[in-house]
Amino acid sequence: MLDGLRPIVGTTGDIVVYPSSGTGAWEAALVNSLSPGSRVVMTGAGHFVELWSALAERLGYRVQRLSSDLRRGVDADRLCDVLAADREHTIAAVCVVHNETSTGVISRLADIRPAIESAGHSALLLVDAVSSLGSVMFDHDGWGIDVTIAGSQKGLMLPPGMGFNVIGRRALAAQAAAPTPRAYWDWMPHLEANRNGSFPYTPATNMLVALDVALEMLADEGMVNVAARHERHAQATRAAVRAWGLDIMSVDEREHSPTVTAVVVNEDDADDVRTVALEQYNMSLGAGLGALARRVFRIGHLGHLGDGELIGALGGVELALRRCGLDPRPGVGAAVDVLAGAAN
Ligand code: PLP
Repeated sequence: MLDGLRPIVGTTGDIVVYPSSGTGAWEAALVNSLSPGSRVVMTGAGHFVELWSALAERLGYRVQRLSSDLRRGVDADRLCDVLAADREHTIAAVCVVHNETSTGVISRLADIRPAIESAGHSALLLVDAVSSLGSVMFDHDGWGIDVTIAGSQKGLMLPPGMGFNVIGRRALAAQAAAPTPRAYWDWMPHLEANRNGSFPYTPATNMLVALDVALEMLADEGMVNVAARHERHAQATRAAVRAWGLDIMSVDEREHSPTVTAVVVNEDDADDVRTVALEQYNMSLGAGLGALARRVFRIGHLGHLGDGELIGALGGVELALRRCGLDPRPGVGAAVDVLAGAAN
């Protein structure tokens, strides 16, 4: 299974699989690659980078938040400036949430390692790919990532309950030198046991059986086709939202998420739309999180999703918008046009 996972992550390196949610995989990445009290830069904006920062602070790391506009991805130039100013190289790691699930903004990861290098800095690069992996082309090795963090419940199409750390060579070396107390999350017992096809403690066997099937499905469709399908569904969703006359949270064409679209409405309307969608159409839309509570609802379009299901979901949203009196213009047809055009 690890061999099946490697091409999806774009690595020839090591992968550790935990019976955990994505939050556990966040903690694992930090306690393995950093020494106690290390300084880390948390870049980008959104609910999940805030949660990851809070977790790192609770573990005693010195977190420097490099916030950006909630509607945009990580600013690589600003990151470069911050690292260049750190002449003593006290910053041990840069942490990035690739696809901010709360805003529907995907950062341009390929720009991050070059920014670190142009600052002449040695920081590790830790990336949360929880809501991008398995849905977009991902290049852990090529993008110079040291640890990629993922979970089972999004692009991998599984129930929640499995977390991943993908580990580069620099991160392994950092782990050997980092005296952080760690036990359950320690990479080493996993890597040793995995060599013999086993685990250091009871793995989530039910999840492994499911992962085997998910990897086969992704391999059958081909990752390039999976990524193209997600891109097409995201484009169709945006076409519907724009036709309704509503605003998309993400503002840069290069940073629209292929997996989730956050739709901005007037204060308090978002939860009305979500309630009606759930009660009338048995359809669960994502809530606005953190600073976006009540102002945003989110349409997820990832994983095992076909064109017809997407059109059905967008039809449900349009009905809910009308029932809530938001008076949308017809939008589903615009999504159909995108899907039909792309199919041609
Ligand atoms: N990171 C991102 C981008 C997420 O979307 C999530 C959850 O949705 C997490 C981290 C946290 O993962 P979990 O809820 O599985 O602990």
